[in-house]
Amino acid sequence: MDLGLKDKIAVITGGSVGIGLAVAEGLAKEGVHLLICGRNKDRVINAAQGIAKEYDVNAIGIRADVTNTEDIASFIPAIEKHFDGVDILINNAGTGSREKVMDAPDEKWQYYWDLHVMAAVRLSRAIVPFMRKREGGVILNNASICARQPLGYEPIYNVTKSALVMFTKCLSNELIGENIRVNCINPGLILTPDWKNTATMLGRDEGITAEEYLDRIAKGNTPIGRFSSPEELANVFVFLCSPKASYCVGSSYYVDGGWLSVTI
Ligand code: NDP
Repeated sequence: MDLGLKDKIAVITGGSVGIGLAVAEGLAKEGVHLLICGRNKDRVINAAQGIAKEYDVNAIGIRADVTNTEDIASFIPAIEKHFDGVDILINNAGTGSREKVMDAPDEKWQYYWDLHVMAAVRLSRAIVPFMRKREGGVILNNASICARQPLGYEPIYNVTKSALVMFTKCLSNELIGENIRVNCINPGLILTPDWKNTATMLGRDEGITAEEYLDRIAKGNTPIGRFSSPEELANVFVFLCSPKASYCVGSSYYVDGGWLSVTI
């Protein structure tokens, strides 16, 4: 199926590894040109160069920390230098937390608020003007199943991802009249390199292999009984970016192997 994405231009935060990289590759396969960011400059530049070579698209990697307002401002000259607009913004950069509400300092709450919510707010403000010039666009926010079904060890993650879901709805209502579709994806267990490293470390402590550790988590949580690959999840991102998803507006799509234990 031709998804109608050829020669579109996408900005992806955290596109250097894990889910963001898989989404970048999925879009590049459809002929989308990319600007990806990460804090580790070498890694993001290497990822962009690899994608450009493999898929014959224009792919630029920039060092940017999306919790930093100056770094967010630097997206605009980078876009203007390399591209003639933007069609797609994917707010993906994020990470888990570990704390108790009663112990965590304000600074930690603020950091995750900036990372999971304000980065999406600020980048939307910066990039929507490019979409307006093209009379349309797509914004996808990567939240988590934890936005609705919290994990006990990471309340700050749960709360900030939940806020990202509500931000998605509010922004969608504001922009759909301008042909800009805003949606959110709530992934479950996605087997990124980071999960593999964690499983190797924690499995070793218990005298089991990384595969056994991951298998136990997957079977203990998801009806499907396994992790998703980043590529499997990326297929959903790519579809939602495409004109084939033209009636998908202001929603949150769970990609979680059945883990969410309620209907919505
Ligand atoms: P990874 O840690 O594998 O990748 C995170 C990416 O984001 C990297 O490219 C990283 O690059 C970048 N990044 C992190 N912090 C910042 C920052 N402050 N500024 C700019 N870039 C940043 O994570 P995942 O791929 O697992 O997760 C991606 C998103 O998916 C996150 O929002 C996460 O919450 C969400 N998610 C993941 C799930 C999973 O099972 N893996 C499940 C549900 C949701 P660098 O380190 O160089 O900055």
